[in-house]
Amino acid sequence: MNKVELLAPAGNLEKAKMAIDFNANAIYLGGKKYSLRARANNFSLDEIKEVISYAHKNKAKVYLVTNILCHNGMTKDFKPYIKQLMALKPDGFICADPYIMNVIHTNYPNVDIHVSTQQSICNSKSALWWHKSVGATRVVTAREVDFINLAKMTKALKNKMEVEYFVHGALCVGYSGHCMMSNNLSLRDANVGGCAHSCRWNWELKDKNGKLISKKFTMSTKDICHVCHLSKLIEAGIASFKVEGRMKSLHYIATICNNYSHALKDYYANRLNAKRIKMYENDLAKAANRDTSFAWFNGQPTQKQMLYRDVQKPLTQNFAFIVDKKVKGGYDIISKNFFTCNNTFEVFGKNHDLISNIKIISLYDVKEKMAVDRVNKPMYHYIIKTKAKLDIGDIGRITK
Ligand code: SF4
Repeated sequence: MNKVELLAPAGNLEKAKMAIDFNANAIYLGGKKYSLRARANNFSLDEIKEVISYAHKNKAKVYLVTNILCHNGMTKDFKPYIKQLMALKPDGFICADPYIMNVIHTNYPNVDIHVSTQQSICNSKSALWWHKSVGATRVVTAREVDFINLAKMTKALKNKMEVEYFVHGALCVGYSGHCMMSNNLSLRDANVGGCAHSCRWNWELKDKNGKLISKKFTMSTKDICHVCHLSKLIEAGIASFKVEGRMKSLHYIATICNNYSHALKDYYANRLNAKRIKMYENDLAKAANRDTSFAWFNGQPTQKQMLYRDVQKPLTQNFAFIVDKKVKGGYDIISKNFFTCNNTFEVFGKNHDLISNIKIISLYDVKEKMAVDRVNKPMYHYIIKTKAKLDIGDIGRITK
């Protein structure tokens, strides 16, 4: 059995490298054109080249996202653009528009084409249509497919197409790629990456007589978290576990990749049990201040299971530092937030489980060449002394 791929989002170069450092097997990212998430810092050609080189050196793959739905007038530049992208040797393309897929397949018949979730594919016959029409090698299913039907799809597509499934992150209240709410309310086209997240605004909900039912109603959905379903999904034949979030923070990417990659490692070592799943769920909850759900996994969810209400959960953990190197007497860290020697920390990393209750014995400001009792500049080097054993690349969070 091939090992399942952990596929992470990359909104910029730093996040791309972070995802790979935290053991994502593949990343997906957009160039400056033809990619959704118009407000993510999409990649220049030079950056794509750099990230592909970094990924391939670390045995990870890079899928380029060209998944907008083209309006007339958007098609003419695609052929020269795809030629530039192909020269960079990506591992595949994620596409939604038939024109884009057809151009790629006709000109580069051996390149992998993944049908984006923007096509909302919920059955194997639709997936096979894309396989036969434009040579698609993978389908990213709609997030609305339940587990029973997902398993039927992977069975029907075996040896023809891979199936990629969203395991973590946000989802639309409508089918992805079919929502006009943002276009209508803010003139920002969700289908070319400009979504204003209108479904997440605070709305007034009234009954048919105009009587106010709720002053603060949102259609926003809870995020998905499927870490407890990993075994089931692997055994059903899913090829790739996708994480949503090209707009999310560095800390989010590191936390999600770290927990899912550890959970997958546990699965293949036969030690993914209820206790460890709980540990991963607890840590994943620290990545975002939003409730999570299983969404459509068990069939049609209830409103309570699915809709995110006006719950404002403050973040309890702050991203404090990254360990850059080991030095004599401590660790050289890059600061990410304000903290003092009186704070308590926890640290996660790819080589160990979460280490809690860490105290910093002393702090040294590398630039100012002096001992200090607080970090008050982000992105500066400090040397910390602690009794905890840390690794390069570990991430520290403030807990108290
Ligand atoms: S408005 Fe909401 S449902 Fe519509 S595309 Fe944007 S996030 Fe998705």
